Amino acid sequence: MAETASILCPDKVVLLPDMHAGCPLADMVTVERLRQKKMELPNATVVCYINSSAEVKAESDVCCTSANAVNVIESLDAREILFVPDQYLGHYISTKTDKKMTLWPGFCPTHIRIHPERIKELKQENPQAKVVVHPECQPEVIALADEVLSTGGLCRFAHKTEANEIIVGTEIGIIHRLRKENPGKKFTPASEQAICPRMKLITLEKVLWSLEEKAPQVKVPEEIRLKAKAAVDKMLEIGSDERAK
Ligand code: SF4
Repeated sequence: MAETASILCPDKVVLLPDMHAGCPLADMVTVERLRQKKMELPNATVVCYINSSAEVKAESDVCCTSANAVNVIESLDAREILFVPDQYLGHYISTKTDKKMTLWPGFCPTHIRIHPERIKELKQENPQAKVVVHPECQPEVIALADEVLSTGGLCRFAHKTEANEIIVGTEIGIIHRLRKENPGKKFTPASEQAICPRMKLITLEKVLWSLEEKAPQVKVPEEIRLKAKAAVDKMLEIGSDERAK
C-alpha cells in the first residue's frame, strides 16, 4: 500500500510507521520467480493483485484490486492470464470468466483461517444473517456466502442491506468500523482467528512518532516506479465492477 502511494505520488512524503508491516501474501511472489514463470508462459498477460511489491507490479501488465479484478480481466484482449500472487482470489475470478487462468500458489495467511465448518455453525445459530466474505477466502468458504465483496464493497453492502445480521468473512478489524457505521445491526466475525499480525503492527503511538519524525519513509526507485505505474494506471483506466452497485 505504501509503495503504491509512492508509485502514484512520487513527490509526496510516504510514511510507513512500522517497516515490518508488510503483507505476507505479497511476499509469496518474487520478481525472479515471476520472470521465470513468464518465460514458461510467453503468451500470458500478467495480472497482479494490488497486494504485491513494486518490483512485481513493474514486471506485470496490469494490476487489480479485489473490487475490480473481474472487470480488469474481462476487459483484457488476452485469452491467457497469469494471476499473482493470490490463488484464492484468482480461483474466484476464474469462476467469473472464460479466460485461461494460471494461478500463482500464494494465499493470505489471515483469510485462510476462515473455515467453512464454522460458517455452517454460525448460519445455524443466526439463520437470518447474511454471509459476506472476501474473495481471498478459500472456495469452500465462498460457496457458503450470500455475497463475495471487497472491504469497500462490504461496507457499502452493510449500509444498504435490509438484513440486520451479517456474518463477516474477512480480517476481523473491519468489524469495529461496521459496528460504528451501522449501530442497529449485528456483525459476527466468521472467524475469531482472522487477525492479520502485520496490520496490527501499526499502532496509534507509531503513527504519532512517524508523523513527528517524518520517518520511516517509503520511496520506490524511479526505474521500477515508472514500470509499476504503467500497470497501476492501466487498472485505473478500466475501473471497478463494484463501484456502480
Ligand atoms: S490480511 Fe494481512 S496478509 Fe492478508 S492480504 Fe491483508 S495485509 Fe496481507
